[in-house]
Amino acid sequence: MIILKDDYFCSGMKQQNQIKLLIISCLVILAGLVSIQYYLIRNTYQLTSETYVNEVKKEIAPVLESPEMDTIEDRFVSELKRLCLKKTKDSLTLLQFHLKAQALSDSVRVISQKYLASQTRDYPVLEEIRIRFELRQILFETNGIYDTLLRLIDPPLVFIGEKFEGKGFNISTGITHTSVELDEEEGQDAVQYFYKHNQLVDMDISNFQQKVWKEMMWMLMGAAGLILAVIILFFYMYRSLIRQKKIAEVKTDFANNITHELKTPLASLNLIVKSFQNEEVYQNSELMKQLIHSLERQNKRMQNIVDRVLESSVDKQKTQIQEVDISGFLREFISDYHSAAHEFQTEIYPDELILETDTYQLGRVIQNLLQNAEKYSPEGSAIKLRSYRKNSDYIIEIQDEGKGIPAHEQKKIFEKFYRISEGNLHDAKGLGLGLYICKQIMESLGGNIYVQSTLKTGSMFILKIPVI
Ligand code: ADP
Repeated sequence: MIILKDDYFCSGMKQQNQIKLLIISCLVILAGLVSIQYYLIRNTYQLTSETYVNEVKKEIAPVLESPEMDTIEDRFVSELKRLCLKKTKDSLTLLQFHLKAQALSDSVRVISQKYLASQTRDYPVLEEIRIRFELRQILFETNGIYDTLLRLIDPPLVFIGEKFEGKGFNISTGITHTSVELDEEEGQDAVQYFYKHNQLVDMDISNFQQKVWKEMMWMLMGAAGLILAVIILFFYMYRSLIRQKKIAEVKTDFANNITHELKTPLASLNLIVKSFQNEEVYQNSELMKQLIHSLERQNKRMQNIVDRVLESSVDKQKTQIQEVDISGFLREFISDYHSAAHEFQTEIYPDELILETDTYQLGRVIQNLLQNAEKYSPEGSAIKLRSYRKNSDYIIEIQDEGKGIPAHEQKKIFEKFYRISEGNLHDAKGLGLGLYICKQIMESLGGNIYVQSTLKTGSMFILKIPVI
């Protein structure tokens, strides 16, 4: 017996560890799967974007390097140099310079946009993207005085294409130097100057990015669906493992309980057999009678255990429904019931009520509940049986002042072989079949059975029988 409990404990621990290992492995596999999916999607996106950008760059190169664009750019730069010169000659303040430079870039940009728009027929890709030429920094020097006319922190001068928000995709970065130039203004002396600008050409591909995400939507949904399927699969696997564990526990519990139940009658039988081996017993007819009576009792006890196990294996209990006066039946039933260790109280209402039920099966249920009330409550405490009509139901309540049933166990006690764990202690004998059979009988009678219980206060089992 002890070996059985130890084995049970060890195998329980082993199973617990296996489940933990399974959960950890599942989580690791899931994390790996998510990372691989993320890596693949990111790479696909980057690759698609790069391929697209390279193709677009190749396609628009003739436009960007066309003589028209060169002319527009040259015109802007030479006008800008003139403004720079004015600024260094103090005929413009820095603010005025910025305003004029902005106005200049705006006007040049309008011309460039017209040109670019005119090219869309030959280069349809221009419709999908936006281009931006911008000056980020301008350095100017005359007579040994350096002036940063456009700083990196100033708004850049967008002079070709469109002003668009965001970084964009950089096509080229360039620095233009002009070291010596003559002041072209009439009547002015030639001036030496140094001019340097820092220029970026960017492309806005946000439209395309959206398109790529849209195209990748199926892939994304597929990936998410696969991950979800794996999660669901893991969940079902986990659930079936827990079920298997529970079945294994129930089996072991049952083996423990039935061994425990059979131990007492078997020990008694052993004693009786030993007594029969004594010659003197045969001469003592009184002792003989007692032994035979005891033999009968133990036999009945074992028969009962076997009957209960057999009964629990059928799905439905057989019933013979008849019209009965339920109040009369209960009064008769309790007149036969005696409890030596408990105070038994009854309240039966109404005086008479006819309904259709099987009193034999109902009696078995009440008997079982009363036995449980006795088994699970202290000696001397009260056990109450109350019955009354409530709407279209007849209610029978059996209440004790016992140890009560924890809330999370209250549903489970009606399951087959379920007994509330007492840490392998068997204070009260049982197979965990009583309430299961009670529930089966009540359902066969078209009624139901419930429990209301508070720990350390007591439990109340409620039977509901339909009244036609
Ligand atoms: P058992 O043969 O173990 O009594 P039952 O199906 O009758 O089997 O009961 C299942 C479990 O419900 C019991 O093991 C016990 O822990 C709990 N139980 C049943 N009736 C009561 C009660 N009146 N008070 C406290 N616990 C109860």
